[in-house]
Amino acid sequence: MNNYDSIVIGGGVSGLLSALVLSKSGKNVLLLEKNRNLGNNCNSYLVNGYQVDTGPHAITQLHSGGPLRYLMENYFDYVPAFVDYGDYFIRDAYGLKEVPTTLKGYLTMDMLPKKDRLIIAQSLTKMLLSWQFGTDLSNISVYQCLPWNTLSSDTKEFMDTFSYFLSGKSAKETSVQRMFVGGGFIEEDIEKDITYENSEHNLDTFKRVSYVSRLLNNNKVNYNQFYPRNGLKAILNAILYSLPETVEIKTNTAVEQIITENNTAKGVLTKEGSYFADIIIYSAFAKDLPKYVTDLPLSYVSDLNRIKQSKALTIWLGLDEEFEEFNYIGGEVWFKKKPFWAMPISNYNKSFAPEGKKLVGFMFSIDENNSLESEKLEAYNTILRVYPGINKHIDMIHNQITIPEKASVAINGFIAETVTPIKNLYLVGTDVDDRSMGITRAAYSVVKLITVLRKKEIIDS
Ligand SMILES: Cc1cc2nc3c(=O)[nH]c(=O)nc-3n(C[C@H](O)[C@H](O)[C@H](O)COP(=O)(O)OP(=O)(O)OC[C@H]3O[C@@H](n4cnc5c(N)ncnc54)[C@H](O)[C@@H]3O)c2cc1C
Repeated sequence: MNNYDSIVIGGGVSGLLSALVLSKSGKNVLLLEKNRNLGNNCNSYLVNGYQVDTGPHAITQLHSGGPLRYLMENYFDYVPAFVDYGDYFIRDAYGLKEVPTTLKGYLTMDMLPKKDRLIIAQSLTKMLLSWQFGTDLSNISVYQCLPWNTLSSDTKEFMDTFSYFLSGKSAKETSVQRMFVGGGFIEEDIEKDITYENSEHNLDTFKRVSYVSRLLNNNKVNYNQFYPRNGLKAILNAILYSLPETVEIKTNTAVEQIITENNTAKGVLTKEGSYFADIIIYSAFAKDLPKYVTDLPLSYVSDLNRIKQSKALTIWLGLDEEFEEFNYIGGEVWFKKKPFWAMPISNYNKSFAPEGKKLVGFMFSIDENNSLESEKLEAYNTILRVYPGINKHIDMIHNQITIPEKASVAINGFIAETVTPIKNLYLVGTDVDDRSMGITRAAYSVVKLITVLRKKEIIDS
């Protein structure tokens, strides 16, 4: 006899959301998490009186009908409070400028040479028009759509930085589509998922309406972007509070194997013993699935091997005064040598830092060709160079090394599907959907899971 209706492997946000949906659909659930704590990349904790998040976060697509909004409204017992994200800036030696989002913005952005600004504006218009007429931009890289070798090094760094920021990969590996979604020029349409008509998605789920007009006048990168007022852990806490008693959670319990029989998932093996269930939801790295299931088809394994990931270093600095460089709400991007994204999160909520102090997170992409120590050192030196005098005000330093998304959306990369070749084994997580980013993407994957399980009549509609 099965011990459980369902087993969820992994207690990050996608595993927890899956457990929530299953339990609120009448299933009893066993959730197994290998770490001591739940939440993984979606959490906050205290360091010397400062409340740091697991990396700087902007939560996207929180509008009505967005995937996380949908899950919160339908499955949460209460919805955490969110505040407007604020603005995105670019910093250079002269200070902050708003990130350009319209043609005029690009043309007047004096951080880049005039010739390059014209080229970017032309390419942007050309690509957006061809997208509107049906061209698939997911296989065209940012690098390919620009006359790369004619651009100045500043412009190349600028394009590379925004590519890393949006996909975790360089301009050579980032698709134009990704840039357009991230830049607010095109939007993903989730209606079909939310109404459960469509468990797959393709380009046709993107609205091709008049987004060219956005380029001309009224575009904003931070459309529908928010920050949880009490920090990232507010999302985790709301999920945990909403979990019914039919969810049993075991932390410090790593799954070692997924037990299969006749190509059907039956249970999992841990050091403590085996657990059995009708369905297994796997939320760890899809790329690692072959470590847990030995008899996967070779073509499937080779697809999973094409998943690209990227590593991030976040440096949290507690500053002993209200450093005026960070007196804004939102995020800033430094695009010159050793680019980073910074967010002064205590501006959203003063309680994140001791009185009179400030908390800022700086996120860098890690170049895996270099040693971690040299990457950290270069990152620190960059911060000291960009904000002269900051070293005299550092009250707390905390480093995090993380994999922000299990799959970066990159040219020739791969994103896994909810349904696997093993019956009753399903995947969720940020490597199972390519829309939006991070937590929103994890939520998309759970919405897809709901769609699949409803179609299979495993849970009720
Ligand atoms: C620096 C940084 C910045 C980010 N910025 C943003 C942002 O601006 N906006 C945004 O929306 N998102 C952002 N994200 C991403 C977002 O936090 C993640 O995409 C999301 O939290 C991933 O959730 P997940 O459940 O899919 O994966 P994970 O958090 O990786 O959870 C997977 C879980 O599975 C567990 N596990 C693995 N193997 C096993 C096993 N064998 N047995 C049991 N358990 C196992 C892991 O321990 C982990 O807890 C950022 C992340 C980072 C790190």
